[in-house]
Amino acid sequence: MTRFIDVPTMSRLVAEIGIPSFIGDLATYIGEDFARWHEFDKTARAAAHSPMGVIELMPVADAQLYAFKYVNGHPENTALGLPTVMAFGVLSEVVTGYPILLSELTIATALRTAATSLLAARLLARPDSHSMALIGNGTQSEFQALAFHCHRGIREIRAYDRDPKATAKLMQNLARYPELRIIRARSAADAIRGADIVTTLTAEKVHADIVTPDMLAPGMHLNAVGGDCPGKTELHPEVLRRARIFVEYTPQTRVEGEIQRLPADHPVCELWQLIQGEAQGRRQDKDITLFDSVGFALEDYATLRYVHAQALARNLGADIELVPDLDDPKDLYRH
Ligand code: NAD
Repeated sequence: MTRFIDVPTMSRLVAEIGIPSFIGDLATYIGEDFARWHEFDKTARAAAHSPMGVIELMPVADAQLYAFKYVNGHPENTALGLPTVMAFGVLSEVVTGYPILLSELTIATALRTAATSLLAARLLARPDSHSMALIGNGTQSEFQALAFHCHRGIREIRAYDRDPKATAKLMQNLARYPELRIIRARSAADAIRGADIVTTLTAEKVHADIVTPDMLAPGMHLNAVGGDCPGKTELHPEVLRRARIFVEYTPQTRVEGEIQRLPADHPVCELWQLIQGEAQGRRQDKDITLFDSVGFALEDYATLRYVHAQALARNLGADIELVPDLDDPKDLYRH
């Protein structure tokens, strides 16, 4: 039977574990799997583009487990009462092809994206970072704020969204963390002024230039999360040229990430190289580092692995007959 985790069950799992612990655990799982980089059969995700957005399939496998995620990105969806990003995924045994888990991944994607940003920032941001600009205060924003507050010493968030209601929602949702000071900024430039880390989380299918070179300060770490498909970026190209750039999986990020605006031979390092100590992160305090996040299948593999283990340990979710449970494996006709 296949363990099925629907949205209410995922919400219960997250509530039992707690958002900060969940993100911390996911950062560990994702780090473990990136450390085994060469054991995976990897591919850039398959994307179906339309004028309104994108629908993607994200597969990855090692010798034991195969995972895929279905995910969309439709920036105009919120005006229709739907989230910009919606997702679900499957984990299967490689030896038989049997699907052992079918899970919601919309909530889990927000958690794993924050966990991956945390993992990168642990390796790249200045250790004394305490202030973070958070530009784009939609669905993903609380998770990023909590990842950096609870695990990376961020005590001040400088929040900006062109929709003031989104910032009000962020401030209200995080009011129960009194040690996290949230300052409402008047503009992206105002948010970035004085910040050690800059997280961009906007959704618009344009080359947006949210961060321009005049906003940079020596030593900043940029966590660019919202630019994740062709024609959808957040940083001015000169910002990219001034930064040491780190990506998840180069063939995918060249097409989807901020670096789509740079020549195809512009040097970048991959996250696994940092984790394995093959590449150097920040060389000096004044370096500007950039994590050009687009979201890679291995992060979802790690997330599904974690969700499966937690669901079994806590007896959460239902066992469903997703594929036929046959008395005679050659007799589908009578089933
Ligand atoms: P969302 O639609 O809920 O929120 C986006 C927010 O950005 C909105 O509140 C909107 O008002 C604001 N915004 C748009 N343009 C802006 C601008 N120019 N200046 C200021 N604010 C602006 O979307 P979400 O689910 O929070 O996702 C945010 C982005 O992150 C999306 O682009 C999504 O595709 C991307 N994403 C990336 C990953 C990854 O792994 N890298 C994972 C999930 C989502």
